[in-house]
Amino acid sequence: MSRIEPQPGVMDIELYVGGSATVDGVKDVVKLSSNENPMGCSEAVTDMHAKTGLNLHRYPNTDHSDLRAAIAEVHGLEANRIICGVGSDEVLQFITQAYAGVGDEIVYPEHGFSMYPILAKMVGATPVVAKERERVVDVDAMLAACTDKTKIVFLANPANPTGTMIGGNDLARLADGLPDGCILVHDGAYTEYVQGFDGGAGLVEARDNVVMTRTFSKIYGLGGLRVGWGYAPQPIIDVLNRVRQPFNLNDIQMKLAAAAVRDQEWVTKCRNDNTRLRAWLAEALMEHGVPSDTSCTNFILARFADQAEAEACDEYLKSQGLIVRRVAGYDLPNCLRITVGDEPSCRRVAHAIGQFKGGAR
Ligand code: PMP
Repeated sequence: MSRIEPQPGVMDIELYVGGSATVDGVKDVVKLSSNENPMGCSEAVTDMHAKTGLNLHRYPNTDHSDLRAAIAEVHGLEANRIICGVGSDEVLQFITQAYAGVGDEIVYPEHGFSMYPILAKMVGATPVVAKERERVVDVDAMLAACTDKTKIVFLANPANPTGTMIGGNDLARLADGLPDGCILVHDGAYTEYVQGFDGGAGLVEARDNVVMTRTFSKIYGLGGLRVGWGYAPQPIIDVLNRVRQPFNLNDIQMKLAAAAVRDQEWVTKCRNDNTRLRAWLAEALMEHGVPSDTSCTNFILARFADQAEAEACDEYLKSQGLIVRRVAGYDLPNCLRITVGDEPSCRRVAHAIGQFKGGAR
């Protein structure tokens, strides 16, 4: 019998832990564990879906030109410097595959998005963690963690699961302080929740070592569509297109995403609702003795006394049909990440946490 062995390091990769959408034995379940937009997507998208139909006998447009044109027009970017992927996860994968390999290092912050170490290990690179300061990225620690082997620095800004962000000066300092040949990936999955923020586009324009990634999964309410994109200097885009499968997006994905990006009114409405409900939820939890950092995203990182209390609260919420996210895997064992849902969901989760704090178990 032949022995089929994976590449060295593959078995060290921990599987990505996703959230369940059901609770055994509970009917009326609210899912607040995946940072989805409770408002759903724009009507422009559902209209387009009805019109598009299934055009499955033809291969889709391999260079995504219509979608890139729509994104470029709306954001004032150059279409030929955009690359699209199956979620921004795939764009992050292109970057990792193209620029890092065995013996290289990939730096990311202490509580960074869980895909970063997965991606590093997928290509045999070493994940290197930089300490944060009170759940905020520390640029000095990030720079200190870099060596001449560092090929990629991943930074979600705003960050998941902390919800915090760093400002433009810190970002520029990070980009400028990186070792030669190292790329800063500014992961902007939550950009649209910060009014007036360009998600790092300006930084990409001004540097040759910065890539920005964005997604339709969050504020656009299209987590199920699986479309994301990146913006980068032209030489980097040319490289990324070489590791991209030619037909990575289908026609429906491209048409619906283009309709979504053209409806910025929907984005504004969702941002405003989120800002209002997020403030309400944070305050309600605080009143129940559960603090959180100021969030720049569509979720709150609720802090409990210790891991035991966070886990007990998670169990209690589940028994009430409320699914939130444990973040012990992010080295935040005393925290629960709670997506800002619609108003009834926010009220329901705040009420249940109040009951839990009042002794209900
Ligand atoms: N980056 C961050 C920081 C995220 O939180 C997520 C989604 N959880 C992603 C990237 C990937 O999003 P998607 O692949 O759905 O675009």
